[in-house]
Amino acid sequence: MLYRIIKFGGSNLQDARDFSRCAEVVSNYSTPSIIVVSAFYNVTDRISRAALKASESGHNPGTFIEEFSAECFKQVKTNIHDRSLLEKTNAELERLIEKLSLLFKGIHAIGELPESINDTLLSYGERISALILTSVLSSRNLPVSLALPEDFGLITDGEFGSASILLRESSKRVKKFFNKNQYYVVPGFYGVSLEGKTTLLGRGGTDYSAAALANLLDAESLDIWKDVDGFQTGDPRIVKDSRTIDFLSYNEAAELSYFGAKILHPRTVEPLQPKNIPLRIFNISGNSGKPATVIHNGSVEELPGPKSITFSRNFSVLKLKGPAVGIKPGVLAQVAGIMDTAGVNISSVFTSQTAICFLLLGSDLRKARKAIRNEAPALISDVETLSDIALVALVGEGITKKKGIAAKAFQAVAEEDINVEIIAAGASTAAVYFVVKENDCDRAVKATHRYFFPENSGPNNHQYSDLTSVVL
Ligand code: ASP
Ligand code: MG
Repeated sequence: MLYRIIKFGGSNLQDARDFSRCAEVVSNYSTPSIIVVSAFYNVTDRISRAALKASESGHNPGTFIEEFSAECFKQVKTNIHDRSLLEKTNAELERLIEKLSLLFKGIHAIGELPESINDTLLSYGERISALILTSVLSSRNLPVSLALPEDFGLITDGEFGSASILLRESSKRVKKFFNKNQYYVVPGFYGVSLEGKTTLLGRGGTDYSAAALANLLDAESLDIWKDVDGFQTGDPRIVKDSRTIDFLSYNEAAELSYFGAKILHPRTVEPLQPKNIPLRIFNISGNSGKPATVIHNGSVEELPGPKSITFSRNFSVLKLKGPAVGIKPGVLAQVAGIMDTAGVNISSVFTSQTAICFLLLGSDLRKARKAIRNEAPALISDVETLSDIALVALVGEGITKKKGIAAKAFQAVAEEDINVEIIAAGASTAAVYFVVKENDCDRAVKATHRYFFPENSGPNNHQYSDLTSVVL
C-alpha cells in the first residue's frame, strides 16, 4: 500500500473552525493516509509552564487542569454532534485528563519535575488533539482510527527531551501495524524508548515523527500543512518583499531549518532524504490544492545566487586562541570533548591556525567558558567571548562553489556600515554563514536580501518537477 503522510501543526488547530478545515483537507486525500498531529496551538508551552510552576513553587496545578480540560471538552462539543460518538469521545478524553491530572498531582507532591515525567506530561497535548481529530474525522464518516506510538512501536534512543527515532528498530512493527486501507491519526512529538518510556523528539518534533513514518512506510509523500506560504526568500517579518520558494533540495531545507527558518523541525529531512520521499508544504489558508514549497532531490537545479537568506539570534562565540592550535593534532577533538562533557551543543565551528571559534547558543556561553577555563589544554593561551551575536546564512545548493557570493554579501552589509565578525563557508556546499552583532542583524538581513533579491526581480526560482501536479 502506498501511504501519504499528512501533518497538521498547532497553528492549524486553534479554534473550532480549524478542525473542520483539517477534516476537509483529509477528506480530499485517498486512503491509506496517516495524519500526524501536534498539540493545539500553544498547549505544549502551557503544559510546560504549569508543570514548572507546580513543581517549583508548590503552586497548585488545579486551576490549569480545570481550564485546559474545559477547553478540550468544548472543542469536542463544538465539533462532534453524533450523540454516541460524543459520549465515547468525552469518556476517552476524561480518561486522558484524569491521567494528566495525576501526573500533575505527583510533581506537585514531590516538588520536583523529573525529565521522564516532563516528557510524559508534555505528550498529553498531542494525545488529546489526536483523540479529538480522530473523532472529528469519524463523525464525517471517514474510516479512521487512532494509532499511538507506543502501540505501533515508534522506538527512540531514550534520550528525554530530544530523542532520536531508531528507524531500524521501529521498522518491522510499524510495517505490520499499518495494514488497513483507511486513515490513521497519530499523535506526533513523542516515541517510546526500548524500555517503553515516553520520550519527546524536541520542540516542534511532530514534523520529525511524520518524516520517520514516511520513511518507515516508504510513503508517496510527506505533506505538511501550515498557515504560512512555505519557505520564503527571507523572513517576511523583516524583509518586506520576500517571495515563496517553489523548490528546495533536502540540504537547502536542512540548512534553512537549522538556522533560522521556523518552518520545519531541523531533523525533518533526515529520514526522507535517503529514500527521496518528497516533502510538500501546503498553506491551509486560501488552500489552492498546490504545495507552496516542494522539497525533493529530483531535479536539483543550482541557481546563480542563494535561494534564501535566513538568520538566528541568540548566539555566542567562544574563541580559543593559541599560536599552534591549527597545527597541533588533537586539540579540536580535546576541546570539543570538553564541551560535550559540559553538555554544551556546538552549533558550528570555525578554525584558523591560531584560533578555534565555537558558535554556541547564547545561553550556553557561560557554561562553556567555565568548562574551558577548568580544563583547557595548555596550548590555549587566551579565551575570548562574543555574546549577543546573530548568524546570517545564505542558503542555496552549490553557492560555496560560485564566485563572488560572499563578496557580494560583504559588500551589502558594508554599505550599511555593519561589521562582519566571522565568516564561514565550505563545510556545506549549500550555505555561507556570517556572524554579526545581534543589533545589526535585521539591517544585515534586509541589506543582503535586497542585494540578492532586488525588488521586482521575480522569485529567483525555477520550474520545479512534476511534483506539484500530483493531485491529492
Ligand atoms: N507540540 C510540540 C511543540 O510545541 C510539538 C510540535 O508542535 O510539533 O513543540
Ligand atoms: Mg508546533
